[in-house]
Amino acid sequence: MRKLMATTLAAAVTLSVVGCSQSSGGSQPAAGGGGGSTAAPAPAAQTPAPAAPAGNPKIGVAIYKFDDTFMTGVRNAISKAAEGKAEVDIVDSQNAQPTQNDKVDLFINKKVSALAINPVDRTAAGVIIDKAKQANIPVVFFNREPMPEDMQKWDKVYYVGAKAEESGTISGQLLVDYWKAHPEADKNKDGVLQYVMLKGEPGHQDAELRTKFSVKAIEDAGIKVEKVAEDTAMWDRVKGQEKMAAFLAASGDKIEAVLANNDDMALGAIEALKAAGYFTNGKYMPVVGVDATAPALKELESGTLLGTVLNDANNQGKATLNIAAALAKGETPNKDTTGFDITDGKYVWVPYKKITKENMNDAK
Ligand code: BGC
Ligand code: CA
Repeated sequence: MRKLMATTLAAAVTLSVVGCSQSSGGSQPAAGGGGGSTAAPAPAAQTPAPAAPAGNPKIGVAIYKFDDTFMTGVRNAISKAAEGKAEVDIVDSQNAQPTQNDKVDLFINKKVSALAINPVDRTAAGVIIDKAKQANIPVVFFNREPMPEDMQKWDKVYYVGAKAEESGTISGQLLVDYWKAHPEADKNKDGVLQYVMLKGEPGHQDAELRTKFSVKAIEDAGIKVEKVAEDTAMWDRVKGQEKMAAFLAASGDKIEAVLANNDDMALGAIEALKAAGYFTNGKYMPVVGVDATAPALKELESGTLLGTVLNDANNQGKATLNIAAALAKGETPNKDTTGFDITDGKYVWVPYKKITKENMNDAK
């Protein structure tokens, strides 16, 4: 894999003379899931992207890293929403805040009309806001929420996201539903739900709040819980698999449920469980995730994933682009100019939704 990446990277470097970032003019959707960061140059090598019609504002978009399944969905939604409306230049911050800061400087030098930023480190938003304000370029953050005090630094700062508490509560409720309908889920018959937690990146609002509110929802339903193990798997499938394998090795039969802060980690856990003999011969483990990504819906369908929570990448991408485009044109973002309700003058909250096998078509 590493070797393959190196080869692709070499090709990317060669082609970067032509163009190193994805542009909406080419309307080439990003590859779904894994290994996306080096995939961009192919279209640029052939025909140059057609110039956007005069008058379409230029918007600089930075994603925390391209190689993230959920963010790939948001990225594609931004490109789609931009069609005919804005010229977007979408760049990969490669999970490094200094890299992202450099990309922001380049956008400012190019005099883009608005910025849309998915911070690597959400506490770095303040620095980006200072730069944007100085250049009078409005900025929309998304998916990684800046601190409230940073949001107040300037009136041309917005945030598009989803209420993390809500997704935590829903994922807990998925386990509550299962526990109540399946008395055999209490494997050791002690009346307590023994769970393991696969946490996202520490400090990310979605990781902290999903962890807290999923457990709270179970307790609020009157079910006693015991945490057998918790560790971060950094939103990552392979790490999810490794951590789950370690949990199984250490605590094996004690575990009665798996809570994962996102689907990729849940899918990794399912792989580890399969390797340990689960999901065959009646051996089952309830696993819940968040996002409702395409690969997660497949596991829902096959019955290995108990449930997930729709994290609406399409509407998050659309709201981000629409707000940035309105700001770029000098308009005030509101329901009329963006199609989305703006809360407290700065925030768009896209609702989550409980997804099980029964309603999985709602997530497509
Ligand atoms: C998603 C994760 C994703 C993360 C990236 C979260 O909202 O649920 O899948 O890795 O955002 O910041
Ligand atoms: Ca028990």
